[in-house]
Amino acid sequence: MLDANTVRVLYIDLGRREWRVDERPELARYLGGVGVAAKLFTEGLVPDAEASAPEQPVVLGIGPLTTVFPLATKTAAVFRSPLTGEWGESYAGMRLAMALRFAGYDAVYLTGRAQRPVYLVVDRDGVSFKDARGLWGLDCEETGRCLREWEQGRGFRSIVRIGPAGERGVAFAGVNVDTVRHFGRLGLGAVMGAKNLKAMVVHGEKSIPIPDRRAYRAVYEEIHARAVDTEVMEKYHGLGTAGNVLSLNAMGALPTRNLRENRFEGAERISGEAFAQKTLIRKLACPGCPVGCIHVGLYRRSFAEGHEYESITLAYDYELIYALGSFLGLSEPGDVYALIEAVEALGLDAISSGVVLGWATEALEKGLIHTADLGAELRFGDLDGYLAALHGLVEQPTPLYAVLARGLHRATAELGGRDFACLLGNNEMAGYHTGYAFILGQTVGARHSHLCNAGYALDQEPGLGEDPEGVVDRLIAEEEWRNVLNSLGVCLFARNIYDPPTVVRTLNALGVPAGAEDLAQLGAEIFDLKLAAKKRMGFDLSHVTVPRRYFETSTLQGTLREDVLGDLLSRYRARIAARA
Ligand code: SF4
Repeated sequence: MLDANTVRVLYIDLGRREWRVDERPELARYLGGVGVAAKLFTEGLVPDAEASAPEQPVVLGIGPLTTVFPLATKTAAVFRSPLTGEWGESYAGMRLAMALRFAGYDAVYLTGRAQRPVYLVVDRDGVSFKDARGLWGLDCEETGRCLREWEQGRGFRSIVRIGPAGERGVAFAGVNVDTVRHFGRLGLGAVMGAKNLKAMVVHGEKSIPIPDRRAYRAVYEEIHARAVDTEVMEKYHGLGTAGNVLSLNAMGALPTRNLRENRFEGAERISGEAFAQKTLIRKLACPGCPVGCIHVGLYRRSFAEGHEYESITLAYDYELIYALGSFLGLSEPGDVYALIEAVEALGLDAISSGVVLGWATEALEKGLIHTADLGAELRFGDLDGYLAALHGLVEQPTPLYAVLARGLHRATAELGGRDFACLLGNNEMAGYHTGYAFILGQTVGARHSHLCNAGYALDQEPGLGEDPEGVVDRLIAEEEWRNVLNSLGVCLFARNIYDPPTVVRTLNALGVPAGAEDLAQLGAEIFDLKLAAKKRMGFDLSHVTVPRRYFETSTLQGTLREDVLGDLLSRYRARIAARA
């Protein structure tokens, strides 16, 4: 919040081409980020309307620490997910949070559907609605290039856009933010596409008053020193999250070939070490981050016979390498880059795309679907089929692609093959086959993401597996605390720096009189808000099922048992029911 006592919400109605700014002092208790966004979303949610309905809101929120403290770089997005049909929540870094802050808005509330494709220009003076018919159909890179030229503006600028996947309603279409970051998961791109909203350009140039400069400086310097002078953030700058490839492979937790295996013989070749040694050319940082975890590599692409090449720069990280590498049996960085380039251009979520294609490969082997319906031969380890299929998911030349483009949950409801679909809570799995806590955590997390509660980390704690109540306690506590960090706008990679006493000091230095207990209460309240909204959208934890594949392929904890997971799920359900 720009002012500790109020929240400035920019309301935009795309259908009416109207906007207004409301001061909402009663929202100040939610701090910002996901707290404010969740509250605003639940105010406008239409439970009986699908995710793509014009009246369904999309809310963006930044936090009180945005821009003024290190690593406070994230913008939260809350929406109804077209992939799961329920709670949609996603986070993006780079310049968006800073641009919104400098433009003077704590949250943006978008509703309606534009009559024709539009893009928005948001600045301190409000909103301009601009014709995007010339951009419709362009990929994310081309769209960014045009808008960088057309909308030079002043101050900080952020460019948020969708690609053809969002325009065509692929349920796992993402949103590109400033080229190297994304609202990746759960289909925000399709929601923007349904609103005929191709892009948003935000210009910010205000300054931010700091009430207690001395206290602010002291805590700022402490946080900065912990980020750069200790080992806490070293891994993120060094190899980045791509460093997880070899460690997860060594643990037997690297999902490989549609999770038929938990180790990949090609892991060395697509490891963070190999990507760095052979391709890394630069590390980038979100503005206000002294760490710089964004690893950008050089992909040399052949575009014609006769030794014709062009060089492309692409950001990579663990999730991309897992979903578009080991999960599809691809062991050459060049092949992984070719798929990264395609998902970036098309505006697809890489994780869901890889998991859908992994399932389709096995479904083809089992005779559940047919090559003629795909127009491509899918084989683990074979790039060409996967490249063609990514385009197929977007262009949907056959009915089968149209079904797959709705996500694996809906596709398997129609086609069968749920047993070997790597879904958790109807969302495609993240790349951690570590054990019970990961599976439980993604299944029960409010947005069905491994980032809701970090179950994969609990699986790596010796002894915790023997304490089922302890697992449930820790997942709930982690999700509640992450709600606080996500309301502040802090990058979750910095969660070990922003412990509760540090967070209290940051807020107090900004004139927000919060204590540790207030924060704990707030985290729980936001969690309850989400659970109540999920219930209104029809989600019922007693109906969730976990596909058999998770019990067939060994994990870090050995082969899992359905009865043990069933017991964990019952305990979790009982705890949630007690809160309700
Ligand atoms: S650690 Fe990475 S994602 Fe987080 S703020 Fe820094 S550059 Fe951005």
